[in-house]
Amino acid sequence: MIDRDPRLAWRGLSLKVCNMTIIEPHIHMYSRTTDDYQAMYAAGIRACVEPSFWLGSNRRYAGTFFDYFRLILEFETVRSRRFGIDHYATVAVNPKEADDPGLVDEVLAGMGEYLDHQRCVALGEIGFNNITANEERAFVQQLHIAAAREMPIIVHTPHVDKLRGTKRIVEIVRAEGLDQGKIIIDHNTEETMPVARATDCWCGMTVYPISKLTPQRVSDIIRTFGSDRMIVNGSADWGISDPLSLVKVVDTMQGDGHDEQTISRLVFDNATAFYSQSPNWQPDFDIQPMDPREFQR
Ligand SMILES: [Zn+2]
Repeated sequence: MIDRDPRLAWRGLSLKVCNMTIIEPHIHMYSRTTDDYQAMYAAGIRACVEPSFWLGSNRRYAGTFFDYFRLILEFETVRSRRFGIDHYATVAVNPKEADDPGLVDEVLAGMGEYLDHQRCVALGEIGFNNITANEERAFVQQLHIAAAREMPIIVHTPHVDKLRGTKRIVEIVRAEGLDQGKIIIDHNTEETMPVARATDCWCGMTVYPISKLTPQRVSDIIRTFGSDRMIVNGSADWGISDPLSLVKVVDTMQGDGHDEQTISRLVFDNATAFYSQSPNWQPDFDIQPMDPREFQR
């Protein structure tokens, strides 16, 4: 079932390409190039979800958030389609910019129309960056907004003090009495997985070339914790990251003896089940890439 695709060779990749349809459930395409879209399509990725994130410098105006939400919900969706990938987005004030309560309140007051957008499939990512009281305030406020709308929620665990942050996230989710089946706790490691798996939340894992997890570590985690409610992502952004992380996970797990059903659960079925909790999630896996000469500005 594995063929080599010559379209990947120019990237210097000697990747095996699977015929499996892959959903990239967490990726920041705003920061990626058209080359990335072409490589993703060639590698079998047919749909993706772009959570709202930090743009590289903190925003100073609520309006800058609103323009960004519209950009990822509308322009990025059109751009992605040109390359044969169905693109959805999620909307939120991310944890890294959640330490200014005045600005957070202003953004939350105007965020409704973007959460209602037909390409918005969840609220996120929210959670912790430095685990401050202000971040927690914005996190809880946004949990309530999502719960009132019965939307899926993407929760970001912090890079620093990840275990403490994950424990606090779980405490809050439990205390608020939320529907855990609508929540994904993302960016887990071997250390946080026992905490996240003790809930009914979905558990995300992020594969990066240097930091975060490797495909081998994902393979090992799945052997330890199983594949139910587990979702893998590449989360590619401005940093050293890889929009083809999921393809490498498939390749590694096949070599590591996991069955096809387990692998498909990780890169397709579980993302489908999670996002299907939003009525807006109606992915089209048969979009044909356009001839670049036909792109309109
Ligand atoms: Zn992210």
